[in-house]
Amino acid sequence: MNKEMKATLLKAAVEGSKNAHCPYSKYRVGAAVLTKTGKIYQGGNIENVSYGATVCAERVAIWKAVSEGEKEFEAIAVIGPGTSEGYPCAQCRQVMVEFGLDWLVVSGDQDGNYLGDMTVRELVPFPFTPSALLG
Ligand SMILES: [Zn+2]
Repeated sequence: MNKEMKATLLKAAVEGSKNAHCPYSKYRVGAAVLTKTGKIYQGGNIENVSYGATVCAERVAIWKAVSEGEKEFEAIAVIGPGTSEGYPCAQCRQVMVEFGLDWLVVSGDQDGNYLGDMTVRELVPFPFTPSALLG
């Protein structure tokens, strides 16, 4: 994936963070997933007063895409507050594994500046994949 596309995806992740609902943690996260058909779905984290009902930005973006019929992804960009590199939590990594191991996770800061990237396979070196159940 070229530099321009990463920048576009990171910008969409910043946009996604603007609609985050994070009154409890104040930890604003945004994500944007690029499908193989070229569409981008963005999301922000959505917290709930019943904390267990909270959903991360990455899963919001992925579920929006899946609910629109998209299941093949090129990349997902993730941005968090501040300037340090942020990568998805373990639950989000598992959701990513569901849709393949060879797509890219791009990390950025709160302003959408590129900080690094790696594949889902690199983030989850010993994945529990659908083949475990489906053969
Ligand atoms: Zn997560």
